[in-house]
Amino acid sequence: MESIHQKILIITAPSGAGKTSITHFLMQEIPSLAFSISATTRKSRENEKHEIDYYFIEMEEFKKKIQLKEFAEWEMVYEGKYYGTLKSELKRIWGLQKIPVLDIDVKGALHIQQQYPENTLSIFVEPPSVDELKNRLQSRGTESEESIRARINKASYEISFKDQFDKIIVNDNLERACLEAHAIVKDFLKS
Ligand code: 5GP
Repeated sequence: MESIHQKILIITAPSGAGKTSITHFLMQEIPSLAFSISATTRKSRENEKHEIDYYFIEMEEFKKKIQLKEFAEWEMVYEGKYYGTLKSELKRIWGLQKIPVLDIDVKGALHIQQQYPENTLSIFVEPPSVDELKNRLQSRGTESEESIRARINKASYEISFKDQFDKIIVNDNLERACLEAHAIVKDFLKS
């Protein structure tokens, strides 16, 4: 029997480590998980939908929500771009008798862990090496050299926090990493 107990699952990683692929796999395989839709001030990309991928809101509204303490955590993930997990989103998902899955950056993940230490499982997805991460970001072909440099610097900094998370999965092979994550989450759901 799975027990919900207002659990939270966090998947965090440096950019390019594969956390989104692992999150998608888990969501497909485990029906009691529900994706936690974050609020952000960044503009939506072409294929993204409001209230499905993100709650796309204006900076003014975001700041108002900070003041009203509506966020469980929020961060300026990129220069001038704010992202945050709304407390109402966690409640919405718990209300569906499901477990929210937070695909968020490392600092945000640390904050959630501090605030909800009881029933939270955090998984840090580690790239096999910084060189490999660089190769992946370059082969995506979507980033400029400058953006890749910035992401690599940020990644090295973020990797230094890895021991603060409950589990570390090295993503040297996506299929294996997905299966490892699946086993870890299944265990968490039983507890
Ligand atoms: P993107 O703009 O590519 O969708 O996301 C950029 C980064 O922001 C990703 O690392 C993503 O995990 C992170 N992120 C998305 N939502 C949140 C959130 O609610 N809080 C925090 N701290 N980071 C988030």
